[in-house]
Amino acid sequence: WLIDMVLSSDLLTGILDEVRPLLGQGKVANYIPALAHVPADRLGIAVYTVAGELFSAGDATEPFSIQSISKVLSLTLALTLYQEEEIWRRVGKEPSGQPFNSLVQLEFEQGIPRNPFINAGALVVSDLLETRLTAPRQRTLELARRLAGNPSIMADQVVARSEYQYSARNAAIAYLMKSYGNIENDVDKLLQSYFNACAIRMSCVDLARAFIYLANRGVPLGDPSPLLPARTTKQVNALLATCGLYDEAGDFAYRVGMPGKSGVGGGIVALIPGELCVCVWSPELNPAGNSLAGTAALELLADRLGRSIF
Ligand code: GLN
Repeated sequence: WLIDMVLSSDLLTGILDEVRPLLGQGKVANYIPALAHVPADRLGIAVYTVAGELFSAGDATEPFSIQSISKVLSLTLALTLYQEEEIWRRVGKEPSGQPFNSLVQLEFEQGIPRNPFINAGALVVSDLLETRLTAPRQRTLELARRLAGNPSIMADQVVARSEYQYSARNAAIAYLMKSYGNIENDVDKLLQSYFNACAIRMSCVDLARAFIYLANRGVPLGDPSPLLPARTTKQVNALLATCGLYDEAGDFAYRVGMPGKSGVGGGIVALIPGELCVCVWSPELNPAGNSLAGTAALELLADRLGRSIF
């Protein structure tokens, strides 16, 4: 059936009410102090249809740290700057089945990360951006602002600095890859760019709008020229469906059935090609580092809409 007939802000409000009892059962990310202070009771959802209609509920306009969701922006930017083979020589397209910040496969696979949506893969993508752009940080931020149609989007410098202060693990990942020749630039510079992208703050409304191009054959909302070719968009969605939720990608596909990307700030973006892009936010995470109530809300939304890509 037509999605517009079922979709409404009331439907979304009802979904948030149903998942609210889950609050208190997860854990807000605390690997850096700057994120540990985010109020645990925030809950928001926003849906943009490819026709440009917006539906939202709860804390949908409150900006939060997008964290790993930025990996999609970075990959998109890289895909506009490189031939696809140049990227896929240096990063794989396979699910990792490991936590997002794992190092274990890098040694077996000669410094080639499994996919662009785990930390190792995103660091290689940041390296690609560093090589081709004079101000990669600024370009990533500009892309976020342009896609969301919101010039006030900023990267939170307190979060970025906090990440840098506690960067031992990401630095280890980057140096290990550098030892195999898969990082070209200065690791320190690279980490700063990567943390800056993670520290971008956007709301559910911003994110649902920003990623509508993935549901719309590469065409952003309010911008007639495609950001990516339709074929590339399909490929990015395939990677999101298989790798976007780390070692929980299988469970997410089973429960929600949409390509998606999560971040430790508690946001999850998901989409149905040809129809809509949704973003949900609830800071408490499950053990895999994905939003606990957020996943449940997306599962309910998929059920209510009767939609799945499978
Ligand atoms: N900034 C986080 C990190 O590098 C991002 C991870 C995430 O959102 N899963 O560890």
